[in-house]
Amino acid sequence: MSGVRQFLALLARNRLALAGLVVMGIVVALAVLTPVLPLADPDVTNTSNRFVPPFSEGALLGTDHLGRDLLSRLMWGTRLSLAVGFAAALVAATLGAAIGIIAGYYGGRTDNVIMRGVDMLMAFPYILLALAIVAALGPGLINALIAVAAVNIPFFARNIRGITVGLAQKEFVDAARLSGMSDARIILTEILPNVVPVIVIAMSTTIGWMILETAGLSFLGLGSQPPQADLGSMLGEARSALITNPHTSVVPGMMILVIVMAINLLGDGVRDALDPRLKSGALNRPLPATLVAQDRTPVPAHADGILTLTDLQTQFHVKDRIYRAVGGVSLNVRPGEALGIIGESGSGKSVTALSVMGLVASPPGIVTGGSVHYRDQDLIGAPYDALRRLRGAEVAYIFQDPQATLHPLYRVGDQLIEAISAHRHISRAEGRAKALDLLEAVRIPNAAARINDYPHEMSGGMRQRVGIAMALANDPEVIIADEPTTALDVTVQAQILSLLDDLRRDRGLAIIFITHDFGVVGQLCDRVAVMYGGRIVEEGPTRAILDSPMHPYTERLMACVPELGGGRRRLEAIPGLPPAVNDLPPGCAFADRCDRVQAACRQGAIPLDRKGDRAVRCLFPVTEPQEAAQ
Ligand code: ADP
Ligand code: MG
Repeated sequence: MSGVRQFLALLARNRLALAGLVVMGIVVALAVLTPVLPLADPDVTNTSNRFVPPFSEGALLGTDHLGRDLLSRLMWGTRLSLAVGFAAALVAATLGAAIGIIAGYYGGRTDNVIMRGVDMLMAFPYILLALAIVAALGPGLINALIAVAAVNIPFFARNIRGITVGLAQKEFVDAARLSGMSDARIILTEILPNVVPVIVIAMSTTIGWMILETAGLSFLGLGSQPPQADLGSMLGEARSALITNPHTSVVPGMMILVIVMAINLLGDGVRDALDPRLKSGALNRPLPATLVAQDRTPVPAHADGILTLTDLQTQFHVKDRIYRAVGGVSLNVRPGEALGIIGESGSGKSVTALSVMGLVASPPGIVTGGSVHYRDQDLIGAPYDALRRLRGAEVAYIFQDPQATLHPLYRVGDQLIEAISAHRHISRAEGRAKALDLLEAVRIPNAAARINDYPHEMSGGMRQRVGIAMALANDPEVIIADEPTTALDVTVQAQILSLLDDLRRDRGLAIIFITHDFGVVGQLCDRVAVMYGGRIVEEGPTRAILDSPMHPYTERLMACVPELGGGRRRLEAIPGLPPAVNDLPPGCAFADRCDRVQAACRQGAIPLDRKGDRAVRCLFPVTEPQEAAQ
């Protein structure tokens, strides 16, 4: 039931579709009510009363060349046209879907034979085929219906077959097979419910065409036979009086226009409302840069870094909920420095990183406060052009899954060249030479040959090296690496880490390295910031934090990491789950999971207490700062 309500709500959001629905509702209601309305007989001729103009006494829309009441003929004609159009759509959808499901479900030879037959039907021009069918069957409304349905069957069959092929390989169908269900039952209970929305969508977008086609056949005298009126035959009969008495053409013509437009608008709305991708918002194009709230007050950079985040706040506004994914983060990275950001999944690391270059998808993302300075320029709210010039050229990203970031259909060399030419005009030969340099710089063996590989021909570690090469393509000053080694095995991870470390030393790169693994931080990072619930809870030099964590969360996080040669030690998982960022507690976000928690922890916001090069957001830290400084 809620599904239906959601469908109607989505439909109602589309104004045009709603208008189409209302108009169609009125037309259909009138068509249904026609027999009981006080109308003149549509077929009674009265030649003394020919071509009466509209709005005359006794004939609201006038009369036609035989003196028949046009209003009455219009109503009966609409009724007939709608009925034939709907019937044709229903027949085409049912048969087409059945054919498509059978072909798609059984596959192999069945599929081949059926679909080649369908292809043959599709090879004929649409109207020509319909004409040929009517010519073979003889003129008449039922034959016109059959012809229109027949020429539309291939369209449905093709569509539904495509969907079914995908469904037939899904695990739930395998499971149904394993449980011993018959094919017929699987088709009816597993496949059909999943293709019905597609059938409805296909119907709603073609029904208008089918009404037009039926009208077309009637117009040519192949559909409804005199004296029976349908919209097409009314138009056909009015043709000879088009100039002298245009109202006889205008009346049915307007009705066809109204019906087809209303149906098509409604059909578009139905399609959008039923499309799960639209429902989930996946097809909404994000803005080119993250939205920035109007009331944000920029903050001047307080530190000397090349990239400085100051009290950055990024939220997601979804319906009436507000997710505070980044709740006031301040960070600073100097040239040549590697800064680690660590925290559990969902703590806001990625959103922080993406906010820097305005890459958080908007909607729903919005930066509500704070600043991000690259050198002297505030990137938050910077014009899109300025951001675009900096993206990749000054600040580059490496993402977790190179399989997802590389285009599967282009050679890696071409993708590297594209990354370079996004910022510089270079010839193809220069681009290729530079791409080769980059691949060598990330130590891809036999780079001259691998440059022509497609991403799927490379291993995960190689692909991630290509990802790093792409990030290096324009000699950026800062690289933001968001869990770049999480998808890789440990040996490859170690290689990638040492590669990044070398690049940093050779090129003076600043690196922001995001991870959930303390082992990785220890290998690469000079300083580390620990995030929890969208905030930094501890920050300091990596050595100092590893030796003496101050925040209980950091301590617990480190206890989860196995140590080589550390003897037999229990690895402690942190009980509980991180808090949902749309419902953060007033005090410390970690309080519910902390074993040192006291009443004061839950009272109010806890400031980040900075002493020397260390900072902690905790009232009762594990070790006191002064101890750590010794
Ligand atoms: P991680 O630290 O694992 O990289 P993220 O930065 O990806 O975490 O996410 C931080 C928080 O932001 C998560 O708790 C998530 O609930 C929220 N979030 C991320 N994207 C969206 C979104 N599109 N809509 C609503 N909330 C989101
Ligand atoms: Mg992440």
